[in-house]
Formats: sequence, C-alpha cells, structure tokens
Amino acid sequence: MSPADDAPDRGPDTAPTDFLRELIRSDMADGTFGGRIQTRFPPEPNGYLHIGHAKAICLDFGLAAEFGGTCNLRFDDTNPDTEDTEFVEAIVDDVAWLGFEPERAPLYASSYFDQLYAWAEHLVSAGLAYVDDQDGETISAQRGGFGRPGVESPFRTRSIEENLDLFRRMRAGEFPDGARVLRAKIDMQHDNMQLRDPVMYRIRHAHHHRTGDDWCIYPTYDWAHGQSDAIEGVTHSLCTLEFDSHRPLYDWYLDHLPLPSDRPRQTEFARLEFTYTVTSKRKLAKLVEDRLVDGWDDPRLPTLRGIRRRGYPAAAIRDFCEFIGVARTVSRHEIELLESFVRRELNATALRRMVVLRPVRLTITNWPVDEHGAAAVEWVEVANNPENPDEGVRRVPFSGSLWIESDDFRAEPPPKFFRLSPGREVRLRGAYFVTCTGFETDDAGNVTEVMCTYDPATTGGNAPDGRKVKSTMHWVSVDHAVDVMVALYERLFAAEVPGEATGDPLDDLNPTSREVLERCRAEPIVGECPPGSVVQFERLGYFAHDPSTAGLFHRTVGLRDEWANIQRRSAR
Ligand code: ATP
Ligand code: MG
Repeated sequence: MSPADDAPDRGPDTAPTDFLRELIRSDMADGTFGGRIQTRFPPEPNGYLHIGHAKAICLDFGLAAEFGGTCNLRFDDTNPDTEDTEFVEAIVDDVAWLGFEPERAPLYASSYFDQLYAWAEHLVSAGLAYVDDQDGETISAQRGGFGRPGVESPFRTRSIEENLDLFRRMRAGEFPDGARVLRAKIDMQHDNMQLRDPVMYRIRHAHHHRTGDDWCIYPTYDWAHGQSDAIEGVTHSLCTLEFDSHRPLYDWYLDHLPLPSDRPRQTEFARLEFTYTVTSKRKLAKLVEDRLVDGWDDPRLPTLRGIRRRGYPAAAIRDFCEFIGVARTVSRHEIELLESFVRRELNATALRRMVVLRPVRLTITNWPVDEHGAAAVEWVEVANNPENPDEGVRRVPFSGSLWIESDDFRAEPPPKFFRLSPGREVRLRGAYFVTCTGFETDDAGNVTEVMCTYDPATTGGNAPDGRKVKSTMHWVSVDHAVDVMVALYERLFAAEVPGEATGDPLDDLNPTSREVLERCRAEPIVGECPPGSVVQFERLGYFAHDPSTAGLFHRTVGLRDEWANIQRRSAR
C-alpha cells in the first residue's frame, strides 16, 4: 500500500478531521475567543529544528490558515546561557523553507521581560510569590515527589514588604548568581509537582542575545510561556504532551494576573518520533558536539537543515505530516514511511540522469571509427522523466568506450543474475543491445574491462525483430564523462529505538552510516546540475547536489519502496 492509496479518503468538500480540528470548530461555533483563532510556533533558540518540529509547525501554521486565523513565530528566549542569534536565524530560515510564512516579523518572549517583571511584582504584592534564599539543590530536595510530601521553605512566610524589597534588589543586581530565587506560593503538597512553589526568576548575570546586559534576573520558561501567549492574544496554544502537567501551572498564573485579553487555552498533542533516529535537540546537539556527525546540516541528521541538504522536498514533509494527522497517543513512525513520501514526490519531479558509481570499462569491439580513424560518437535521445513527458528528452553521447557499473557484470553469473555475463545480451538504456564476448582481469582476478559487440539494428534500444533482453543497464561514455563524488547513507542508528537497551542512543550508533565514492562517472549534463537540486540517477536512487560543494551528491533515498515491503510483511 503506497501512502497515496492509504491517504484518508476525502471528497473535495470534506475537510480532514481530528481532535484539534474538532475543538477549533466547536470553539468557533460557540463563539469562544470571539470566533478568532490565533496560534504560535514557540521554539527556544537553543538548537536547530528537527523533523519533529515540522509536525508542530505544520499544525500551528496549517490550522491557523485552515480556519482563517493567524500564526506567529515566537522565540521563547528566556535562557541567556544556551541561546544564540545563530539559532534564531536558522529557525526563521527553516520555517520559511518548510513553506510557512508568519504574517508578522518574529516575536520574542524577551520583548516581554518588562511586563513579566511587572506581573511578578503583582504576584508578590498579592502575597502569591516570595523570595527564597535557599540554593537550587535544597529547593529541589524539598519539593518531594510522588507520595513524598513537600517541605515548605523557611522563607515562605516572609512579609510582602520584605519580598518586594528583595525582589527589586535581585533585579537591581545586588546579589550574585544563585543567591536567591523568586518562587510562586502555591501548594507544597500539591499532587502535581509543577505546583509545588515553582521557581519564577533566577539570578543570572549573563549577556542575552537580544536584551544584552539589561537584566540579571531571567524568567523561567514556565513563568514566561503562558503569559507570552496571553500578551500576543493567542487563542489555541498547541504543544506536545510533556507539557500536560505544566498546564495547571500556566492556568494558575493566568488566573492570578490582570490579563489584557482572553486567556489562551493550551491543548497537547503527541510528539513525532521515528524509528532509527532521535528527535531531541539535546541528543542531536550531543552528536554534533562530539563530532560524530559533520555538523547540524549533516545529511544523516533528522534536522531540517540535514534533510534539506539530503534532498528531502519540503512538500513531502508537509504531505507526510498531513497524512499521519494528529493524536494524543505517542507515536513512533517507521522512517520508511517518511522516505516513501520523499520518493513519491521526487518520482514526479526529479530529472533522470545516468551516473556510474563503481565504474568498469566496457569496450564495443565492432564500434565504427570516423573518417579520421577516431571512435565515432552518437548522440542518443533519452527521456528526462518518463513520469512527466513535458520534461522532454536530452541527448547523451554514446561511443565504443563506456563505463558501466562493475556490479552489472559477472564472469560467472549466479542463478537469476540477468545482467551482463559472457555470451549474454542486454540493452544499454536508450542506445543499443550489446552482447558480451569476453573480459580482462588484473593479477588479482578483478575484472578490468568487458568486451562486447553491439547490434547496429537496435537503435534506441529496440530490436526490430522483437527479440527480448532481460536487463537494461545505464552507462556513461568514457570520453565525455564528468567526475562526481557520491555519498551513500545507511541509518545513523542501528537500532529501531536508539538507546532502548542501554539508555544511551550513542551505544546504537551505526559505525558505517556513510560511504563516500570518490570517483563516480556521470553523463555530461550532470555537470550542469544546479546546487541543491535533486535528480534520479537511473537504477540507483535519488541524489541531491550539495548546495556548497560542486560535484558532491548525497543519496536522498533509494528507489525501492521499503515501506511497501513493511506493509506486505505485516499483512502476512
Ligand atoms: P526538544 O525536546 O527536541 O529539545 P523542545 O520541545 O525542547 O524540543 P522547543 O524549541 O521548545 O523544543 O519546541 C518548539 C515547539 O515544537 C514546542 O511547541 C514543542 O512542543 C514542539 N516540538 C518539539 N519537539 C517535537 C516533536 N518531536 N514533535 C512534535 N512537536 C515537537
Ligand atoms: Mg523544550
């Protein structure tokens, strides 16, 4: 079953449905939020986006567009230690690449630092927040756990005046890092740990990528997130399931603040995960920092940078996200399913080219010479994309001296090997039938040259007498070949769930995830392939021309639909 066959069966008038869409429809019908929908995609700029984020982006931007609303890109930039403008710029660029355009310039939680501070003073003044002089370790030990009671801080009963004075002095920079924190005064025995007097502000004398040295106290993510939504007028605040337990805290904050608009409502959905890879910024960062991959844009990584360089079309990712839909149960998808979306998109769009990865020379012994005694050259026409006749044909030089894949010849063919071997006739794509008459080997027994004769009557690869051959092979003319470098990829992790056995995904790293072939031979037009574009190398797969290294191609996906095989196996 291909994804196309399996796609939800929708007529032109029936919109897709799932729990989020139903919720939004019912909100609109009830006039909740005045019939408005506004979402946001809220990354923390502390790393690059990965394929998991693509699901959140497609939902946040997609649902807003579908229901006539708006979606902002907002950076939740509350931690000066880990965040950087490098990440901000990359995220803006990745969202655009995925095909979504925020209506407004990016927004930043750091723009709301003044408002958040004022609201914190509001809670202090209402007796709902206090300054705690204990260190982080003590505070977290006192928090207790499931079935373990929390312990109230000895500073919990400070007077409002003292709290206000200390908080203002924290802000003024009178205390060193870690000396004090501001905590919400909620309930140290609450069943939900998030409500056991969470920290709202920490002292950190650090430079922030946007606010510079204006602040030496920084809000926690939890203190900033819900209020940032409220400030912007977000109606539907969508996030992943791990924020489930944070929702009551966000609601508690919103309940106790004088808000400018309707309060946002948070709804959680399942994270997107895949077999054979990791979708966690922290784990991806580890791979990059330990130099186990070449960088954030290594084509083996599931970062948007990586898959883009690998040649995954943005349209395939959007289609995939729409196909899997949205649910509340955690779902690990087979990576082969995503690849089949990539393959389907590329099959329709990628131009076909001939490239020989592991070349061996084929000599046609009865090939004519021209009037000067040089081997003749014939330019044969080959379709650019048989799936799309509008792409037309190209002319490819054919001669008596060719490169073919060394795999395509066997001196002693095993059963069911139908490609070239002594005495066997095959078709060379778009050119002629050739029959193998012999071969040469080196001292080690490796085949160095294959000899053939061609049948001049089989122009265009068709025999006028209707005789059949069992194999059609690709080829490249030796005198016209351009050299290219090709990187082949296996899975980055050898286990379906990396780290499942030991807890550390790095234990499952596949040591042979990349093979680089230094000298592949391509038909001349491959030399004109634009950087960043993807073509099909006939019989070998789809390959993306590296955007910055001319002549380097990354294998995007192979041609075989492994997803179909998985479906067949599980149907048995
Ligand atoms: P990570 O866990 O990889 O560090 P994160 O949640 O910390 O990711 P953020 O930058 O905070 O990264 O995420 C921005 C948004 O993307 C959040 O709304 C988050 O819920 C969502 N998101 C993150 N990872 C996934 C995922 N795997 N699937 C779907 N949505 C995700
Ligand atoms: Mg996070």
